[in-house]
Amino acid sequence: MSKAYKIGKIIGIPIKIDISFLIVLPLFAWFFSSYVQPFGFAGVQPEIMKYAFSLLTAILLFVSVLVHELAHSYFSLIFGGSIKEIRLHLLGGVASMNREVKEPLKVMVIVAAGPLSSIILGVLLLVLNYILNPASFTEGNTTLLMLFILGYVNIFMGLFNLIPAFPMDGGRILRAFLSLFMDYVKATEKAVLIGKIIAVLLGIFGLFTDLWLLLIALYIYGNASREEQLVKMRYSRF
Ligand SMILES: [Zn+2]
Repeated sequence: MSKAYKIGKIIGIPIKIDISFLIVLPLFAWFFSSYVQPFGFAGVQPEIMKYAFSLLTAILLFVSVLVHELAHSYFSLIFGGSIKEIRLHLLGGVASMNREVKEPLKVMVIVAAGPLSSIILGVLLLVLNYILNPASFTEGNTTLLMLFILGYVNIFMGLFNLIPAFPMDGGRILRAFLSLFMDYVKATEKAVLIGKIIAVLLGIFGLFTDLWLLLIALYIYGNASREEQLVKMRYSRF
């Protein structure tokens, strides 16, 4: 595991920042500063404000990821699990467990809590944006624009995570659901297969529309296979 810095503790769980996070944070800030409205601050004057808001938005985006991971962790603790740490890194966040909850229904609640917290947070931010300025989501005020971006990204993050394919939360919800009817390894195999089918369809769609989707599809396919191998390795010993 790469180097990580502890920045604090929430509900007894150490929060750590991975070294890769320090690379991706300025990258996100740069992205926000160069993208035009409504998803970036290009054109905001003076320049210093543009960069300040871009950096703040990037930081708050990772706070949003932290909220998502805390939601998983909170329900895990309620159901008797124990969390070693939450780590923020290049691709988001991971809550690693000391003691895992196994009962399918409880797992479904723990896993669903993450994306649902993202969607709820996103909706709250957009509602706040609307209350502050019912006339327009973004115009005239950089703070409103920031609320809009964070609201939108949180909702997107929540919905994207509900796609029923590993490594997204949706894949884990699907496996937990299937394991109500069959053993864990079989449930994993079936969930992996569904994830792979989704990845192939997404890849074909991406080939004709957006190459980014193709990359995401390859990522999903690779992770689906890895999840299957991991579970088979873990359970073949018994
Ligand atoms: Zn999650």
